[in-house]
Amino acid sequence: MKICIIEGCEKPSITRNWCGMHYRRYQRCGDPMKKSDRLHGMTGSAIYDCWQNIKRNHDIFFEWHSFANFYNDVGDKPTWGHFLQKLDKDKPYGPDNFYWHITEKNRKWNESKQMS
Ligand SMILES: [Zn+2]
Repeated sequence: MKICIIEGCEKPSITRNWCGMHYRRYQRCGDPMKKSDRLHGMTGSAIYDCWQNIKRNHDIFFEWHSFANFYNDVGDKPTWGHFLQKLDKDKPYGPDNFYWHITEKNRKWNESKQMS
């Protein structure tokens, strides 16, 4: 059985890799992490870490300095092992300049994780 991809959430995933609660949040406000204590909810999520990492280490499209905009364009990580790469190394990360990459090692790790 697959579980919700939100970090720390152990509920079974129902739709788009989210559990019912997170999916309802998405339907309601376009953001599965949205709740009263929003920043706390995002901190530690895989995609939030990903955003912080590229923000710290790379030039990014100005609208992506807002996590909400970034998340709107990129969405959730396809799997835990994926990470963002640039299509064009000479340009900043942005809506037209990213793709999800996964290494062979991470792919194997994903597979072993799914079996456990
Ligand atoms: Zn959940």
